[in-house]
Amino acid sequence: MTERPVTTTDAGQPAPSDEHSQSVGPNGPLLLQDHYLIQKMAHFNRERVPERVVHAKGGGAYGVLEITEDVSQYTKAKLFQPGARTESLVRFSTVAGENGSADTARDPRGFAMKFYTEDGNYDIVGNNTPIFFIRDPQKFSDFIHSQKRRADNHLHDHNMQWDFWTLSPESAHQVSFLMTDRGTPASWRHMHGFGSHTFLWYNAAGDKFWVKYHFKTDQGIRNLTAAEAKAAEAADPDLHTRDLFEAIRRGEHPSWTVNVQIMPFEDAADYRFNPFDLTKVWPHSDYPEITIGRWTLNRNPENYFAEIEQASFEPSNFVPGIGPSPDKMLQGRLFSYPDAHRYRIGPNYLQLPVNRPKNEVHSYNFDGPMTFQNPADPVYAPNSAGGPAADPTLWSGEQYGVAGEIVRSAYQLHREDDDFSQPRALWEKVLSEVDREHMVANITGHASAPEVTEEMKRRVVQYWRNVHKDLGDGVALGLGVDGG
Ligand code: NDP
Repeated sequence: MTERPVTTTDAGQPAPSDEHSQSVGPNGPLLLQDHYLIQKMAHFNRERVPERVVHAKGGGAYGVLEITEDVSQYTKAKLFQPGARTESLVRFSTVAGENGSADTARDPRGFAMKFYTEDGNYDIVGNNTPIFFIRDPQKFSDFIHSQKRRADNHLHDHNMQWDFWTLSPESAHQVSFLMTDRGTPASWRHMHGFGSHTFLWYNAAGDKFWVKYHFKTDQGIRNLTAAEAKAAEAADPDLHTRDLFEAIRRGEHPSWTVNVQIMPFEDAADYRFNPFDLTKVWPHSDYPEITIGRWTLNRNPENYFAEIEQASFEPSNFVPGIGPSPDKMLQGRLFSYPDAHRYRIGPNYLQLPVNRPKNEVHSYNFDGPMTFQNPADPVYAPNSAGGPAADPTLWSGEQYGVAGEIVRSAYQLHREDDDFSQPRALWEKVLSEVDREHMVANITGHASAPEVTEEMKRRVVQYWRNVHKDLGDGVALGLGVDGG
């Protein structure tokens, strides 16, 4: 028989009992001096950190990024140099549902990746779609509120969702993706990932490029129909979490081909679409995808809470060779993600093993709750005691000029910018006949919820007629409204 270890308190003292509280006689009241009981009850009350306001439900795994091609002419980032292998972590998630909600809900999927590079963490915090519902972070909390529960009855409300979408025509491209069967992927293994935003790359000579990331699933795209997703919701709300974990445990390591689109820096100002608008893709005919490597998931976490619930992804984690673009949504997220982690986990979230970079940290930040990695003296810079010193040359290449008046304004339109031509291209050029039928049925099903008013249904029809007449007509037929 293997010898069992003795239970201890969290302070390591042998625990007095696994079952009995200390009491006055067998039937008597309990004693405040039973510090072990009090520690157990008090710690239990504190088991949860606040769940993420968005992307609360998810799962993840570890993997490796391998670069097979040479893109050193575009970026000097070490993780993208030929032959580089970089350990990484991913967290997949739904967006709107609470922790515990069904994996198969109609929703975009978060596709957040952390790469533990020798220059510190690099995070690509993307989705399974290349675009988003809005293009200005001013609207983000409003958008999310429209997808969450109502203030009065605590119920989800499709009328509220369509109200926001139809008043925000820039949402049409992303809502189009959402309403195809790609809005209900069969598993996380069978969907693409996109960095979505445009990012800056610069090479060793300081030449600059704009880049978009595409992680194309090697398992092939597989989706659920609306009926299959509903059935899965009832049968196994944790379907995607289970699928990924079981696949990796079986030794079936899912992989993605890593592609990029590269735009020369100077093209951006005069490109036919605003290349920084998060509601737009860069058409492949203008900027074809280039394969740069493969990303494979090969290891499950050992502890969900420690490694996935506390995993903290931040689009602001750049390494030399990569920087932000002026995409307004990205600019907003550069603040909001690390801010969320400071609130959820605490200001020293980067000291946790899952978030800690693999290279040594020589920061002058110190103290705060739960610190265990403080810098040695001196704790200030500049100093004359041989403390760490920044090397600005590592970041040379990231600088570029901008000018303009301070305004509150929409993006300046490029020649072909509008809200509907790209979703129209999706409908006309990309979707199959079956895809279109399902899209109409999915929209009709969603907008047929009992709370959706007749007036809202007419707005829904008009919204889709702006994308394509056939689509709007199909939705009008499905909803039984004329749409005017
Ligand atoms: P292309 O024909 O070159 O590319 C179409 C893209 O759509 C491919 O990446 C294809 O790759 C993807 N696709 C295929 N079926 C679907 C589907 N059911 N739902 C979503 N995406 C699908 O044309 P363009 O580059 O000119 O783009 C045309 C439209 O395609 C865009 O307006 C956009 O709506 C959509 N699209 C474009 C992307 C881009 O980065 N240019 C990326 C994804 C979609 P795959 O089947 O492997 O996903």
